[in-house]
Amino acid sequence: MKNVAVCIGCGCTDNNACVDEYRDVCSWRKVDRVKGVGVCSFCPKELVNKLDNTTSPVDELTGLREALKEDMLQIEKERVKTGTKPGVRLQFDKNKLH
Ligand SMILES: [Zn+2]
Ligand SMILES: [Zn+2]
Repeated sequence: MKNVAVCIGCGCTDNNACVDEYRDVCSWRKVDRVKGVGVCSFCPKELVNKLDNTTSPVDELTGLREALKEDMLQIEKERVKTGTKPGVRLQFDKNKLH
């Protein structure tokens, strides 16, 4: 599977490039296929320096989201299993949802 890279400046991707008023599309100034991050030609070239010492912000974010989801799932499972009432935080979240 091809790794889709995301621009750390504007968030454009391989499949969703920036287009300017002349209908020019951006290209990669620099792209790291392994990390899945890059800097496109429409973003300041200074960002390239940032790219070199950045870990993948995308992966970190997805990882965080997954971890959070996993956490909530675990709490919910535990709650159902033990038949305990939802905690204050869960109740608060539920109220917010409905
Ligand atoms: Zn960009
Ligand atoms: Zn772009």
